[in-house]
Formats: sequence, C-alpha cells, structure tokens
Amino acid sequence: NSIFSSVLPAPEDPILSVYFASRDDPSPHKLNLSGGTYRTEEGKPLVLEVVRRAEKQLANDISRDKEYLPLDGLADFNKLSAKLLLGDDSPAVKEKRVVTIQCLSGTGALRVGAEFLAKNHQQSVIYVSNPTWNNHPNIFNLAGLSVEYFRYYDPKTRGLDFKGLLEDLGAAPSGAIVVLQACAHNPTGVDPTLEQWEHIRQVVRSKRLLPFFDIAYQGFASGSLDKDAQAIRMFVDDGGECLIAQSFAKNMGLYGERIGALTIVCESEEVAKKVQSQVLVVVRPMYLSPPIHGASIVTTILKNSEMYKDWTIELKGMVNRILSTRQQLYEAIQARGTPGDWSHVIKQIGMFSFTGLNEKQVRLIAKEFHIYMTFNGRISIAGLSSKTVPQLADAIHAAVT
Ligand code: PMP
Repeated sequence: NSIFSSVLPAPEDPILSVYFASRDDPSPHKLNLSGGTYRTEEGKPLVLEVVRRAEKQLANDISRDKEYLPLDGLADFNKLSAKLLLGDDSPAVKEKRVVTIQCLSGTGALRVGAEFLAKNHQQSVIYVSNPTWNNHPNIFNLAGLSVEYFRYYDPKTRGLDFKGLLEDLGAAPSGAIVVLQACAHNPTGVDPTLEQWEHIRQVVRSKRLLPFFDIAYQGFASGSLDKDAQAIRMFVDDGGECLIAQSFAKNMGLYGERIGALTIVCESEEVAKKVQSQVLVVVRPMYLSPPIHGASIVTTILKNSEMYKDWTIELKGMVNRILSTRQQLYEAIQARGTPGDWSHVIKQIGMFSFTGLNEKQVRLIAKEFHIYMTFNGRISIAGLSSKTVPQLADAIHAAVT
C-alpha cells in the first residue's frame, strides 16, 4: 500500500494531451503543430550554426571551469541581455537603475519576477490578456498573485479588441500588475500597433499600473531584434518602472538550455540595489544559482560583433521561412475556395496562427487528417513546410465545409 495512494492524478495539461495523442498516432503522415518550437522545411529541430560555433569555441577554452555562477548568473550575460532589450545606449542602463538576473529561460524569469512581486509589491492583482499563454495563470497563481483577465482578442475580427483592452486596464486598481507580451502574442499572433502601444502606455502610467513584459519572441515578429523591443523601449523611455521576462529559447533556438533573464527597470540606482537584493532572496532557496552553459553560449554570441551579425541573419532566415509558409497556407486555403475570410493567417504575427477553428473542428482534423493543434485552434506555422501546407489546407477545408 503506497504512501502516495491518496494522490490524485493531475488534471490533463491541454497542450501535453495533444502531444501524447500525436505521439501515439501510428499514421506516417501525422503532423504535430501544437508546440512552439521552430522546425526546418524538413520538419527537423534546428541548431543555429552560430550556436554550434560558440559551443566549439567554449569547448576549446580550457580556462573555463564548472564552478557555481553567482546567484544572479553570468555578469556579462546580464549586461548584454539588458542591452539587447533596451538598446545600445539606454539612459536607464547608464543611470544604473536596471537590474538583470539570469534565469531559467522565460518561464523562470516570470516565476522569479512573480515571487518577487508577491513578497514586495503592495498589490497582488495581476492582469493577463484573454487569452494568454496557458502557463501564465499557473505561474502567477503559484507565486501567490491573483490573476485577472483583460480583453485582448476579438473572435469576430480575429484581431485586437483594443477598446475592450483600454476599458479593462482603465478599470484596474491602482498598482495592479499587467502582463504585456511585447511581440508575437501567444496564442493569438495579434500585436498592438505602435500607436496602440502608446495608448496602452498612457493608460498604464496614468493608472499607476505596473507593466510586466513577457518577451519570448524578440526578433521572431519582424525579423528585427530592435523593432520587436520597441514596445518595451517606449515604456522604459518614459522614465517609469517595469519588469521584463526575456527568453533565448526561440530566437537562438536554445529551448533546452533554459536560458533567459529577468530585468527590472527601477526609478533610481538606490531602488535598483534594494530590488536586486530582494530578487536574490527569491532565487537562493529556489535553485541557488543558474546553469552556465546556455548563458555562456548567448554571451559568446552577443559579445562578438561578427557572431552577433551571423545570428541576426540566421534569425531572419527562420522568420522568412515562417512568413513564406503563412503566405503558402493562405494561398492554399484560397485555392480550395474554403468559406470565410482567411486573411488573418497572413496578418497574424510570429510563430503561431490562431486559426479560428473550434474544438470540434480541431478534434475532427486530428482524427481524420492526423494533424494536431491545440484545442483553441492555435497552430505553429513554424511546424509547417511547403510539403505539409496542402495537407493542412485540405483538412481546414474539410472541417469548415
Ligand atoms: N512566454 C510566452 C508567451 C511563451 O510563449 C513562452 C514559451 N512558450 C514562454 C514565455 C516561456 O518559454 P521558455 O521558458 O522556454 O523561455
């Protein structure tokens, strides 16, 4: 009789259950579009050339050891990650009021940031977009914050519910935390325009809300690292405070290295010092100090202007393949005369498309066509190729007619 016999099975994770269904499907034509990882035209995971080069360089450097990193991680990594986010000559960095801490990818940065806020911020309400990445509510609830939603996506237009968004943020209590995905919104692929960001900024600042940016796809929206950070830079340029959870999983293809950072922009150097000390209080009992390898890869690339340039070229290559696949999917759906307006497929931004397919249609497509997507109708465009686009277009056509 197990000591654990009273343990109940956890509720099914919706994304994992799609993954398992796909894994167990014996069809040779099966296609899993549920995950958010980049694939090549051949459907294979991609390790960037520049990452391979950085790893070789690191392996050959016998002066490197495997000692613990400090609690806040690799110092150069932190400096260069903040620069990548905030720009080469950010006044906030120069004024030493920016704290950056290496974390276990974007998820770890969100969790550390949330725990810090739960302990040190007077307001425990945190707003996330409806819908949002399905791990957001778990992360924030477990940290002890209480999750509320603001309107974001309008199913009718398959675009931004901008009016609803402004109304909900305008009605949020002063001091409330607002999670803003900086670019390539997951799961909708719908981003505010710069003009809309400016309105959002005004509401956030005038209501004294605390922005917590999540940037898991810098470079993946437009192909430009600077452009994709513009929303964040608008908020930093106004002199106000914010938190930023940053990930190198997607833009450097370092998913399994778990490398990212938490940056907190503070009002002054004095505040930044206190904030940093409290973030380290969160880190110490959680994992003591972060892993070396991913941070070393990122640092090697960000430090070396030639490698940096090669990275941006490879990043652009991934983005261009996604854009071209979007176009192919749109054209394939048009060519089949599928009812409805499918222009959202090319308008949406980043790795995903929120197709508008409902759960019944998603299940039918899985059963009849062996194509797997999340139940909210989200597909990873990065998981498609010229070869598989017709297969998906056939499936969509069958599901909606
Ligand atoms: N935020 C968003 C919006 C995401 O989509 C993801 C990855 N799916 C993450 C954060 C975290 O990813 P990671 O922990 O791999 O960096």
